[in-house]
Amino acid sequence: MSDCLFCRIVAGDVPSKKVFEDEATFAFEDVAPRAPTHVLIVPREHVDTIATASDEALVGRVFLTAARVARERGLDSYRLVVNNGPDAGQTVFHLHVHLLGGRTLSWPPG
Ligand code: 5GP
Ligand code: ZN
Repeated sequence: MSDCLFCRIVAGDVPSKKVFEDEATFAFEDVAPRAPTHVLIVPREHVDTIATASDEALVGRVFLTAARVARERGLDSYRLVVNNGPDAGQTVFHLHVHLLGGRTLSWPPG
C-alpha cells in the first residue's frame, strides 16, 4: 500500500534503521524508543491489524523474528506488544510487534 508508512519503510522509500530482514519480515528501530531496545517487527506484506490477520504462518514469522532479534541482543527478559485499535494505542495500521527490553518493565501496561 503506497499510502502506508510501514509499507514505505519496508520498500526503502522512507528511511529507517534496519535491524533484520528476511523474505517475510522486516525489523527496524522505533523512531521514538520507549526502552533501550525498542524494535518494530512487521510482515513485508501489508496486514492492517492482528484482528484482521488471517495468515497464521505469517503472524508466526513476525513473532519468531521478534524473538530472534531479542536473542541476538542478548535479551532474556523482554516484552512483545501488539496494539490493536486506537483505544489500545495503535497509530500505524500495518501490523507490527513492538520488542521492548533493556530495562525493567512494569505490569500491567498503562
Ligand atoms: P503503534 O502506536 O501503532 O502501536 O506503534 C507505532 C510505532 O511506530 C510508534 O512506537 C512510533 O514511535 C513508531 N513510528 C511512527 N512513525 C515512525 C517512523 O517514521 N519511523 C519509525 N522507525 N518508527 C515510527
Ligand atoms: Zn502497510
